[in-house]
Amino acid sequence: MIRSVLQAVFPSLCACCGEALVQGERHVCLACLPELTRTLYTPMDDNPAERLLLGRIPLEKATAMLAFRQGNKVQRLVHAMKFHGGCDLCVEMGRQLGLELLRSGRFDDIDLLVPVPLHWWRRMRRGYNQSELLCRGIAQVFPRPLNTTALVRHRHTRAQSRRRPSERERNVSGAFRVRKPEELAGKHLLLVDDVLTSGATLTGCANALAHVQGVHISVAVLSMAGQ
Ligand SMILES: [Zn+2]
Repeated sequence: MIRSVLQAVFPSLCACCGEALVQGERHVCLACLPELTRTLYTPMDDNPAERLLLGRIPLEKATAMLAFRQGNKVQRLVHAMKFHGGCDLCVEMGRQLGLELLRSGRFDDIDLLVPVPLHWWRRMRRGYNQSELLCRGIAQVFPRPLNTTALVRHRHTRAQSRRRPSERERNVSGAFRVRKPEELAGKHLLLVDDVLTSGATLTGCANALAHVQGVHISVAVLSMAGQ
């Protein structure tokens, strides 16, 4: 009863449209849910996420679950994950991404989940790393261990969103470092992030990881821009 009283006074809001959620809805309302456009890339070899990254990083496989466009509901969802204390939302979206990975069978040989790290300063200000929470959601349904300490972001880089692709790559090159290579050596890693735009951030991570002995790299992102 206490829960229903609280719900009436402080209703949970849809992460995409801000309307109050009704019973049975979680995070996203039933009106917005169909507008979260799926890319359907996960079971697909040579999909656009792979094509964007192949040749730039030593990549095994890649996928992006949702299509991100300026002003669409996916953009609002990703924004809510970052800026409104959306911890539960991140974990839930991670679960959905994990279900796609599981169903496709294409990612079965992944050994370890590795979130794209935030610089400690940004992580402290936000209170969490959205990519790490995505990994925690993935691991609930696609059971793999998670490593949050071996790959670190040692340089604070300014927001990428207003930069041109060439500037983005320069901005993050050398920003990542592998601190504990022995924890990653010989493993097939799944690098996880919330948005794939130019690929500069993932390229920065992969360049740092490429020095680790016998490592294989795949990528899973929640959303991909321009699809
Ligand atoms: Zn909504």
